[in-house]
Amino acid sequence: MDLLAYFKTLGWWEALPLFLAENLLVLLLAVGFGYVLQAVFGRRRSLASVYQPVSGQQLRYAAYTLLLNTGITFAGFWLWRQGFIVIREGASARLVLDFAVLFLGMDLLMYVFHYAIHHTPLHRWVHGLHHEYPEPQPLDLFVLHPLEILGFGGLWLALMVLYPAYFGAILAYLVVNVLFGALGHSGVEPFPAAWARRPVLKYLGSSGFHFQHHQDERHNFGFYTSLWDRLFGTFAPGPLPQAHRPPANK
Ligand SMILES: [Zn+2]
Ligand SMILES: [Zn+2]
Repeated sequence: MDLLAYFKTLGWWEALPLFLAENLLVLLLAVGFGYVLQAVFGRRRSLASVYQPVSGQQLRYAAYTLLLNTGITFAGFWLWRQGFIVIREGASARLVLDFAVLFLGMDLLMYVFHYAIHHTPLHRWVHGLHHEYPEPQPLDLFVLHPLEILGFGGLWLALMVLYPAYFGAILAYLVVNVLFGALGHSGVEPFPAAWARRPVLKYLGSSGFHFQHHQDERHNFGFYTSLWDRLFGTFAPGPLPQAHRPPANK
C-alpha cells in the first residue's frame, strides 16, 4: 500500500484520530519492548531492580506525552500538506545517506538541547521530572515534561523542514528512535560487554549509556550514540550489570 498517496487524500478530521491511534500503538509497543527486554535479560544483565510498580504520576505524564506527540505528528502532517516539508518518494541509494543524516543530525540536536536544559534553570522546572527516576523503567521514556516534548518535537519538525528525506529513511529513523528510547529505559543491558571495545559498536548508545545519565547528570547527554559526548568531553561508560559488579567492600 502506498502510504503517502493515502495520506494525501486524508481529511484533517480523519487524520487526528488516526495519529492518536498510531502514537498510542507506538507507546504500547515501546513499553512492551522494554518489558520483553526485562524478561529476557532481567536475571543476568539487570542494571537496576526491574519490575518496579508504575505510579499515577508516571501514567499521567505518559498520557500528556501521548497527546502532545499526536499534536506534533499532526503539525508535521500540516507542514507536509502545505509544502513546508518535502518527503521524497520511492527508493534510492540515498535512503542510506538520509537515514544517517536524520540519525546523527537528531542525535546532535538532542544532545545540544538536552545539555542546554541541564545547564539552565529549565533543568529544575522542566527536566527534573524525568530525573525523578534514577533507575528508569520502560514507561519513563514517556515521562517527560510537556515543554520537553514540544522541544524535541520542534527539533524533529525543524530538521524535516530543512532536509527533504526519503519516506523510507524517515520511517526507519522513527523505528530506530523508539528502539533506542525503549532500550535506554529498560533497566537491563542487552549489549555484550565486548561491544565497548569494538570499532563502530562502541559508539552506539547502549542501555547503560543512558542509565548512567539517570544516575549521574553530568554525563551522557546523547541518545543514540556516544559520539557527541566523547567529542565534547561529557562521556562516561555505563555501569556493569549488577551480576557482574565486584562485591562492595564492607
Ligand atoms: Zn537529563
Ligand atoms: Zn531517560
